Amino acid sequence: MPGDGIGPEVMQVALKILDAVQSKYNVCFDYRHALVGGAAWNDYGSHLPEETLKICRESDAILFGSVGGPVREQDTDKWRGVEVHSLLGLRKAFELYANLRPAKLYPALAFASPLRSDISQKGFDILVVRELTGGIYFGQPKGRRGSGDAETAFDTMLYSRAEIRRIAKVAFEVAQKRRRKVTSVDKANVLTTMVFWRQVVEETAREYPDVEYEPMYVDNAAMQLTKNPQQFDVMLCGNMFGDILSDEAAALTGSLGMLPSASIGMGKFGMYEPGGGSAPDIAGQGIANPIAQILSAAMLLRYSFGMIAATEDIEHAVETVLNDGYRTADIWQKGNRKVGTAEMGDQILKRLES
Ligand code: NAD
Repeated sequence: MPGDGIGPEVMQVALKILDAVQSKYNVCFDYRHALVGGAAWNDYGSHLPEETLKICRESDAILFGSVGGPVREQDTDKWRGVEVHSLLGLRKAFELYANLRPAKLYPALAFASPLRSDISQKGFDILVVRELTGGIYFGQPKGRRGSGDAETAFDTMLYSRAEIRRIAKVAFEVAQKRRRKVTSVDKANVLTTMVFWRQVVEETAREYPDVEYEPMYVDNAAMQLTKNPQQFDVMLCGNMFGDILSDEAAALTGSLGMLPSASIGMGKFGMYEPGGGSAPDIAGQGIANPIAQILSAAMLLRYSFGMIAATEDIEHAVETVLNDGYRTADIWQKGNRKVGTAEMGDQILKRLES
């Protein structure tokens, strides 16, 4: 589902990479193409048409581009609520409760990071595991009451044992395949919900003795990310803290065009998409960085298809291209070779096929 803006441009490149994986690993992917976002509006008058949902239900995974477009006067209806309707609609339809957002700073791109150079030069590789369907964003009741100075607004933060346990299990299981450390972020010094969160995560941690477990208050976690990001492997967070910290971690890598993400539920079904949006400011120019979309396809292979070797092959090809000095405009620095979307894809493809 390429969606809007740069979505179709970077999706085209990611599909070429998947085609190369088919040949190299002698597998066959059955692609179904579907419209979403503004791109679906003209034909269906909906950002997430039933036809698209049907195709998703018949599939093993969704590779998503991005949605959202330039808001012109005459297009207001077409774009209003596009993200809410399509992305949240898909998360809800498929109960995608775990959001996995890697934030990796490649040493070759250390210059792009806003961190002090002695910190950024060491690089880092963090995976934020964010609970996506519960917590304060969805807790009831929420609303407003009263008037004047007495008017009050309220939201409810609540988590059930089952909700905490299932997201904690995702974090520990993913950590087993990484550097075996989970930092669980909470605010157990203030919030009752978070005291419970810490208790259930601690109970779950005992089932994974091979993974180091550490609780950390969210304010400290935000600070540690800027002082010593190398200490983190998997950061486990509730919905709101994960929303904030995953963006902070992403910003520390220096470019949105590099970051993939996955939303997964029960079983192997998942939705995979770049961390950035439809980038209307550069859409149609052939200059978007396709790496986030390519790495999203790699995450799909890892988490939905269990194709670990193919995933690592793609990740290695991306890293090699960066080390060889190829850069799209968003990560370009003097002395590097500036390339467009298609050439960046071709360079990665060449290394993948070799
Ligand atoms: P954005 O992520 O689209 O763009 C922010 C900046 O990052 C822009 O300067 C853009 O050019 C740059 N950028 C993003 N991806 C890039 C890439 N692959 N290569 C090079 N540069 C890249 O965020 P925004 O401008 O706040 O939002 C634009 C539209 O996207 C809005 O309609 C918004 O609602 C939507 N949006 C969609 C998603 C999604 O589909 N998941 C996520 C965020 C925003």
